[in-house]
Amino acid sequence: MPLKLAIVGRPNVGKSTLFNRLVGKKIALVDDQPGVTRDRKQAEGNLASMPLILIDTAGYETAYDDSLESRMRQQTEAAIAEAELALFLIDARVGVTPEDENFAALLRKSGIPIVLAANKAEGRQGDTGLMEAWNLGLGDPVGLSAEHGEGMADLFEAIRRVL
Ligand code: GDP
Ligand code: MG
Repeated sequence: MPLKLAIVGRPNVGKSTLFNRLVGKKIALVDDQPGVTRDRKQAEGNLASMPLILIDTAGYETAYDDSLESRMRQQTEAAIAEAELALFLIDARVGVTPEDENFAALLRKSGIPIVLAANKAEGRQGDTGLMEAWNLGLGDPVGLSAEHGEGMADLFEAIRRVL
């Protein structure tokens, strides 16, 4: 069975972009506006030679009685309950936000193996964020550019290391 990997993190860090890249088709909806992906989506994909079942999380559809944040938390918890590994994305250009720290705490509590990646790290604009990511205490962050396909070999290695 392929490894089941949930891509988690706050809105707009590039989860769906990475999901689409690894799946190789446009399944998840990507948009400049945070909150566009409607549901948790699952599809088969590949990272180098590694077959994966990928779960993209969103959970920003607005229910009347749920805040955005609680909806995100629910989606993330549901995804990591199903997954064997969580790929936690932050935005390397923004750095670590309080919301990222909340996600980190949630993931740590879950006990699931975690790979931390700082996305949007193409060029040198992500260097500071990548450094900040160390402070999350989730190990060596992988610098990625989901949009440009950079860092995929490092991501592959990081996943193998935590398995
Ligand atoms: P999600 O909300 O976490 O699923 O994020 P999306 O995948 O929808 O991406 C949010 C925005 O970030 C979109 O405008 C993407 O084009 C952009 N984005 C995603 N990956 C990268 C990247 O590697 N570099 C840059 N510069 N932008 C990216
Ligand atoms: Mg998305």
